[in-house]
Amino acid sequence: MTMTVSTTPIATDELIAIKGVSRVFPKANGDDLRVLEDVDLTIRSGEIVGLLGRSGSGKSTLLRIIAGLSSPSSGDALYRGKPISGPPKGLAMVFQSFALFPWLTVLQNVELGLEALGVDADERRSRALAAIDLIGLDGFENAYPKELSGGMRQRVGFARALVVHPEIMLMDEPFSALDVLTAETLRTDIIDLWVEGRLPMQSVLIVTHNIEEAVLMCDRILVFSSNPGRIASEIKVELPHPRNRLDPTFRKLVDSIYAHMTRRAEPKTTAETGIPGTGVGMVLNPVSTNEMAGLLEALAAEPFHGRADLPILADRLQMEADELFHLAETLQLIRFANLSEGDLLLTDAGKTFTGLGTDDRKKLFAQHLLTYVPIIELIRSVLDERPSHTAPSVRFRQQLEDYMSEDYADETLKAVVAWARYAELFAFDENADMFSLENPE
Ligand code: ADP
Ligand code: MG
Repeated sequence: MTMTVSTTPIATDELIAIKGVSRVFPKANGDDLRVLEDVDLTIRSGEIVGLLGRSGSGKSTLLRIIAGLSSPSSGDALYRGKPISGPPKGLAMVFQSFALFPWLTVLQNVELGLEALGVDADERRSRALAAIDLIGLDGFENAYPKELSGGMRQRVGFARALVVHPEIMLMDEPFSALDVLTAETLRTDIIDLWVEGRLPMQSVLIVTHNIEEAVLMCDRILVFSSNPGRIASEIKVELPHPRNRLDPTFRKLVDSIYAHMTRRAEPKTTAETGIPGTGVGMVLNPVSTNEMAGLLEALAAEPFHGRADLPILADRLQMEADELFHLAETLQLIRFANLSEGDLLLTDAGKTFTGLGTDDRKKLFAQHLLTYVPIIELIRSVLDERPSHTAPSVRFRQQLEDYMSEDYADETLKAVVAWARYAELFAFDENADMFSLENPE
């Protein structure tokens, strides 16, 4: 690990500086899994910065490095010019779901954050009450977590972070576990408090996979690409608060971010092996075949007629961008659709699919899986060759783990099993952990 401390004078408003940070984790076979590569990022006082990227792109890993909970494999992570080693004072974090202690009241849960700082009892109480009041939990001081709704519980999470009067607040998908309306209310409340200058911190770094959330809240959005995670582009949002989702400038920004993200998302299609992301080592997302068919049908029908703008499609299908990307990418992989500049276009094969009955759909899907998904073609040919027409899954899992983390190998196998089952290419017996031909003759 290198830790060269910069000798150039540091601008006083520069709170966090991440310089050339990479992070690798060891894979099952001993190789390196590169999660972050050469990430640069600065957070200055007075701004809300968004880190926008898809699941698995390394956002939480980067946040943990900033929070001092993990360290870079190379590069520097600085807080006010000093290398971060251990959780810096002045930094607080809000997680997706805040682990509240069920046996403590709201007040006690919030006070807890101050005990570790050695704040005396009187001050703990008054600061906790102030934070509870600020975040809109007035009157619930003595309630227990189980008596609160999800949104209120997350408010306790915010109060617990605010009570330490942090200089910078890190938020890791803080609204993503909440229902749409609750999330929107809490988001708006936080932004209102921020704009009114009533929050103690000077800056916020928020991690999200929700494009609209990023545009709604942030002054600057860093778009993260995956495999390995790096910052692909930076987008400034200069709209005044409160922002209106229907404002044409807002829509245009959302649109252009979709375009950025789909441009990076185009999977490589060369069947070379050895390069992660292609061939047998391709990471698959276990999207459901029902949803694939549903999306193809929606795309073929009114008002899209084979071509749709992704934000509009997401809105119409009530899907999150992340979910839609996974589906769209899979359709692109099997050549039923194409992603281009934020639009999804039906291919001829995709169009044909929508016109077929169930059995013919399965056949066409099977044909495309065998042609375009190398791992499925591999499993099928192994099963065909073996006299028993069976094969243990561990063999293929190991092969996948040469290219990807165990988590990704799990997801990829889940996708393989679900798709092959629908296409009637082969079956999987979970108890025996064996693949077998569906109908061996
Ligand atoms: P995000 O927050 O963007 O969804 P993460 O930072 O959680 O992404 O994870 C990025 C990748 O790093 C994933 O492939 C994950 O499996 C891997 N990863 C994260 N933490 C570890 C760890 N401690 N050991 C091994 N792999 C890890
Ligand atoms: Mg995460």
